Amino acid sequence: MLAIDFVNTLTSEEDRLPQWLAEQGLPWSEAVVELRAQVREAVLTARDGAEPDLVPLNAALRGAPAYEVLSWSGGVVVSRERAGDESARALAVLAGAAADLLASPAVRKVKTCEGPGCVLLFVPAHPRRRWCDPATCGNRVRVARYYQRHKD
Ligand SMILES: [Zn+2]
Repeated sequence: MLAIDFVNTLTSEEDRLPQWLAEQGLPWSEAVVELRAQVREAVLTARDGAEPDLVPLNAALRGAPAYEVLSWSGGVVVSRERAGDESARALAVLAGAAADLLASPAVRKVKTCEGPGCVLLFVPAHPRRRWCDPATCGNRVRVARYYQRHKD
């Protein structure tokens, strides 16, 4: 999920945003860093059933409105493009991804990882899942418990 991947570029250990944006073909800007915090806040607020602050997301969407383009490739093909400069388009694409999540029932299922110090969000495939990644955070918790039990 693009919106979750976007928010998760900020971990407790590092900020992977520049690298992640490059992988998406999107330019880095201060505004993208700000948008990430706004998306995280909005997702967590909507997850809890409250009204998130949608003003910054709407501003990002308005900055590069989407329009459809017809082209010919042995038949008519419809594609969607966005107006505006490169950085406005990046903000609109990321706000659009957030919009898809916020308007979907999946937003109520978003969880914050219970791993110690972990801030990552995830949408569990299984409702009882507690960790962003059972192989890393889940395992860390199990190992810590094991040592706690076998200390004496
Ligand atoms: Zn985690």
